[in-house]
Amino acid sequence: MLLDNGRTSALADRTGRQALRCIRCSACLNVCPVYERAGGHAYGSPYPGPIGAIISPLLRGVGSPVDASLPFASTLCGACYEVCPVAINIPEALVHLRAKVVDSKREKNFSPERAVFSLSGRVLRSPRLLAAAQRAASLSGRLVARSGRIRRLPPPLAGWTETRDAPAPPPESFRAWWSRTRS
Ligand code: SF4
Repeated sequence: MLLDNGRTSALADRTGRQALRCIRCSACLNVCPVYERAGGHAYGSPYPGPIGAIISPLLRGVGSPVDASLPFASTLCGACYEVCPVAINIPEALVHLRAKVVDSKREKNFSPERAVFSLSGRVLRSPRLLAAAQRAASLSGRLVARSGRIRRLPPPLAGWTETRDAPAPPPESFRAWWSRTRS
């Protein structure tokens, strides 16, 4: 009897299949700046460390909360790729799996995060909207900032300032300064 345990679907994944080359040498575990502090099985995967962050979601899919969070447990510094004796590009696989997680969530219900990024995309694509947004940010920054820092933002942005200050937006954007001084 052959025990597959998700290896066929991992093999079918063009980017992820390289993880099946792993010889379990643990070099990536020892060099990873996140894992060397988190240690053990803190990643919530039967396979520990950076390789576990890609092999578990590849074998089990990204449906569970643990498997959906594993590809994000990395700074993408690339140390694991440099040290891997069989040249598994773990950062590439992590980014690939992050896209899979995002795609799987996209099919589900309304997401405030998606709405914010969709609106940001529209603003960033339009120079006119971007200039208007920068003017609005400068104006509101002047109202809430003290000594160049914003200590408390109103909801729904309050989470940003719960544990840190936010820098006040500059009084004038680079584009506005450029057209004022060079034209
Ligand atoms: S360094 Fe490469 S071969 Fe070694 S455990 Fe990590 S992924 Fe596997």
